[in-house]
Amino acid sequence: MVMTLSLKSIKSQFPIFMHRPELVYLDNAATSQKPQSVIQTITDFYEKENANIHRGLYELSGNATRRYEETRKKIADLIGATDPKTIAFTKGTTESINIIVHSFLKKNLHKGDNVVITAMEHHANLIPWQQVCKQTGATLSVIPVNTNGELMVEKFNELLNRNTKMVAVTHISNVLGAINPIEEIVSIAHKKNIPVLIDAAQSAGHHSIDVKKWNVDFIAFSAHKMFGPMGTGVLYCKEKYAKQIDPFNFGGGSIKNVEFEQTEFLDYPYSQEAGTANIPGVIGLGTAIDFINQLDSNEVVRHTKNLTDIFKDKLKSIGKIQIIGDAKNFGSIVSFNVENIHPHDVAGFLGNENIAVRAGHHCTQPLLESMGISATVRASFSIYNTMNDVDKTIEALIALKKFWS
Ligand code: PMP
Repeated sequence: MVMTLSLKSIKSQFPIFMHRPELVYLDNAATSQKPQSVIQTITDFYEKENANIHRGLYELSGNATRRYEETRKKIADLIGATDPKTIAFTKGTTESINIIVHSFLKKNLHKGDNVVITAMEHHANLIPWQQVCKQTGATLSVIPVNTNGELMVEKFNELLNRNTKMVAVTHISNVLGAINPIEEIVSIAHKKNIPVLIDAAQSAGHHSIDVKKWNVDFIAFSAHKMFGPMGTGVLYCKEKYAKQIDPFNFGGGSIKNVEFEQTEFLDYPYSQEAGTANIPGVIGLGTAIDFINQLDSNEVVRHTKNLTDIFKDKLKSIGKIQIIGDAKNFGSIVSFNVENIHPHDVAGFLGNENIAVRAGHHCTQPLLESMGISATVRASFSIYNTMNDVDKTIEALIALKKFWS
């Protein structure tokens, strides 16, 4: 039986807070902190279990292979996929999206075709599609966002036509915090037989993902935002499309047979895993999923939403602070600007108080430009954040305003 971990004492699972007890970490949208169990898994791998996978006929290699493949199964279970072979390991969300762009879409994309994304995409889910459109003469269409920072789904249908070859949408905006209606988007696109990719970088491990319920075709996410290691990511691909994805990287480990003239490749997902993978990263991701599975997922959402709600209310009560985006359905991300103080100055001031937030365009330059701003301060909450973190940040912002006026 799996024990449920209480969020009350969850901070003690994260060694960074033991080493830095003063740290208020509100940059979870950039990367999450890592629990002891994940760090230990990676250390143990290099200290006691280091070996390459798939090729060795000795115990260490067999164990590494087994644990690597176990993570595939854990990922499949986490997102509701029946077959672990729908899961490929990549370097992260960015690489996962690039695989679909270059190894799936590009060969079918021609002049006159179009790809539909949203105005709130991270550059990782914008630039690859933009560039492939430029290379092929296709058009990039953008679903707009309303003044509340919500996707204008009613405009979506108008952008789809016979020449739409792909729809790519983020589950949760990394700037506005808005949660997009994925099931509705997929169902509209599928009526026209258009495949849909979901960028789940901000939601995987924190919000429920159900590939069967969503009926989505591709999902991309990164381990490092879900308590796992950096440099490891996931690409889910529906069985229907698996055979249509060519290898993205060419090399050892992804082949059935090689001759000087030609190569026969393994099927997906192994076709995408040429070369030595980040094996401790993948195994560490497995431990991160074990950790996530020990949490009560409803409590996680309740806790982070509660902190976000209270933080927003307190921000509003300070005055002269503009909150960017007011979506009805939002995750644990708040973007804001303090009147007459540059976001970098706000983040620098908070940084001096040991409060880690992010300032800038958050890799969503076109979105911010369309809203008439160039940068925001972003605070993003996770399971280990507390009401004390909210209070300290609000106190620091009040002090900043006094100092600056
Ligand atoms: N999409 C979104 C919504 C993100 O927030 C991020 C990371 N900030 C990415 C994609 C890119 O993730 P990675 O850098 O791990 O590839």
